[in-house]
Amino acid sequence: MKNKILGIIGGGQLGRMTALAAAKYGIECHIFDPDHNAPAFQVCSKSFINDYEDLKAIEEFSSGVDAVLYEFENIPLTSAKYIEKFCLLRPSSFILSVSQDRLIEKNFLWDKAKVKTAQFYKCSSYEDLENSFHEIKGLSVLKTRRFGYDGKGQIKLDKHSNLKEVWETIGSDELILEEFVPFKRELSIIIARDDQGNVKLYETVENKHKNHILDQTIAPAPNISNDTKSKAKSIAIKIATELDLIGLLAIELFELNNGELLVNEIAPRPHNSGHWTMDGCITDQFEQAVRATMGMELGNTEIIFSVVMQNLIGEDITIADKYINDSNSRVHIYGKKEVRPGRKMGHINHIKFEI
Ligand code: AMP
Repeated sequence: MKNKILGIIGGGQLGRMTALAAAKYGIECHIFDPDHNAPAFQVCSKSFINDYEDLKAIEEFSSGVDAVLYEFENIPLTSAKYIEKFCLLRPSSFILSVSQDRLIEKNFLWDKAKVKTAQFYKCSSYEDLENSFHEIKGLSVLKTRRFGYDGKGQIKLDKHSNLKEVWETIGSDELILEEFVPFKRELSIIIARDDQGNVKLYETVENKHKNHILDQTIAPAPNISNDTKSKAKSIAIKIATELDLIGLLAIELFELNNGELLVNEIAPRPHNSGHWTMDGCITDQFEQAVRATMGMELGNTEIIFSVVMQNLIGEDITIADKYINDSNSRVHIYGKKEVRPGRKMGHINHIKFEI
């Protein structure tokens, strides 16, 4: 294999684990992040400490690599399109544009991919909010269209909610109102697609949240029926194909009591619910993202061990030492300088040595 260079936009834990995976294949990484403390800078060969809007720096960065992937969705679309002038961006800026905006994403999922999500309404004015709230009738969730993650930019509404107050609190007119889904549990599936259109899927997993942040992923999802598994796969393939994906895509799903699956959201990058693959699969999600982005053949996604992935959030990191010598556990620490409440500091994969 010829020496190649991968560019990564974003120097958080996802960028860091992607760079470590790339190193296994002898691929160097250049990482771009405005924060000089970004943990991925510890494991890359070149750091670009610049703002994402700095097109001159973006040009220098993308001219020096073979292909670029991003580890989060909130980079300016102009910068993403600019990267495409100099090298491959995988997934493409089109896919980024779909995933950056909940309204565009949901319209895409219904109209193009033909998969179902919760009912939703565009809210650009107070009147829109009143009308859609009355349309939904029951519980609903008001979300900002952009820049929301880990439950940020979301307000749950019920019949007692004071809409005027909610409208003022949220302070944006780029919103959607979604019906609240009384789901049985939350699942996710990760798909990789290469530049020839070949796909590889990981097992569907169950995700448990605490304070709106992923706490645990159980892989594979316990007691999942074959029917649900094949529905999840078919949803993932439809979305990836319709997006013309090259790279990795995570799909968050709500499983309903009647067995139906609704798509919550999509993320065109390695995903927290895929961290279990590092110790549970033949090829993990980070290696797979590198392979798809660099035009290599996709790796085998078969499960070798069932895993419970435990996120270490904030002070949870202090328990990591206890598991360092536990032969059923693999500890992954992200090298972040400062512990903050709600900050993802690491994770532990608890492995069951049988499937
Ligand atoms: P999101 O940022 O859209 O992924 O939402 C974060 C979390 O909020 C999800 O993982 C769900 O637990 C919950 N949530 C979001 N949207 C809905 C909905 N329409 N109905 C019920 N729960 C939701």
